[in-house]
Formats: sequence, C-alpha cells, structure tokens
Amino acid sequence: MKQWQALVRDIPDFPRPGILFKDITPVLADAEGFAAAVAAMVEPWREAGLDAVVGIESRGFILGAALAQALGTGFVPVRKPGRLPADTLSQDYALEYGTDRLEVHVDALPAGARVLLVDDVLATGGTLLAARSLMRRQGAEVAGATVLFEMLALGGRAHWDESVPLLAAAAY
Ligand code: 5GP
Repeated sequence: MKQWQALVRDIPDFPRPGILFKDITPVLADAEGFAAAVAAMVEPWREAGLDAVVGIESRGFILGAALAQALGTGFVPVRKPGRLPADTLSQDYALEYGTDRLEVHVDALPAGARVLLVDDVLATGGTLLAARSLMRRQGAEVAGATVLFEMLALGGRAHWDESVPLLAAAAY
C-alpha cells in the first residue's frame, strides 16, 4: 500500500512565527494516500468492540468519520466552543498561551459506551487529554485513542495514562 507519510508536508511559521506545522491536506487529497492512512489507523481497533468513534474538530472529523465507517460505528463530534446546537458538556484545557475549550452534546452517547478518540496529531497532548476527560465525565468508557502521527519532540505521550492505549500510525 502507498506510503502516505511522504505526503505530509512541513509549513514553516504557521500558525505563528517559529512553529513548523505539519500539513496533512496532501495526504487527504491523494486517494491512495488517504486510504492507506485510514487503513493504518483502523487496523488495531477492528476487534475492540467499539460503540462510537469520537472525532476532535476539525481534522479529527475527517479521519474520525472515515474510521467510523470502516469500523461500523457511529461518529460523535467534539467541537470548539459555541458550535454545537443542543445542550453541551464542556472541558477547559491549557494551551501554551491561555486556555481553550472542547464541547460535546450531553446526549451524544449512551452511558457506558465504548469510544475511540480520534485526532490528526498528538503534539503536547492537551487536546486529547481534554477530550478524554470530557468522555469520562459523560460516562463513556474510553477504549483508546488514535492519531495519524505524534510529534515526539513535544512529549505529549508523557501526560497520557498508558492504561488506555494511545496509538499513532507514525511519529516524527
Ligand atoms: P496538542 O493539544 O497535542 O498540543 O495539539 C494537538 C492539536 O493541535 C490537534 O488537534 C492538532 O490538530 C493540532 N496540531 C498541533 N500541531 C499540529 C501540526 O503540526 N499539524 C497538524 N496537522 N495539527 C497540529
């Protein structure tokens, strides 16, 4: 299968000077690359007995929806503040400068649902940890989390309690 990793491109100084952003849009635009990336993320979870895939806005929606289809589950969006129309549960988390917030519909999942968290990238780990807290507060069971790749230099995995599997299809 195609090597999707070669399609990820580095964009210097985005979104701020001094940051090297890894852009996954060329992976998504390439039919074989996208299929290979999704296949790599899906494979470990085929027998995980998942009830839902939970994707984090916004690139986690693209990958998460593809994973949900492949795994035969529904898809639940975790969104930035103010975007979901019905009642929400929210979780604040720290950024390098300031804070941010993730939200999910209070009725998005039945109690005890086994969920897989999906995002494109693990950097410092704050986003995925906040999503995990949100799921637990909602009464869901987090079976695991998966990202397309992790950025090793940012050490996000060190903050993650490894009793829940966190899988990355690649690491840079
Ligand atoms: P963290 O909370 O782990 O520091 O950052 C992860 C979040 O920021 C993810 O939602 C991810 O989409 C975004 N992110 C941070 N750095 C990058 C990057 O270099 N490339 C991409 N595609 N997303 C990034």
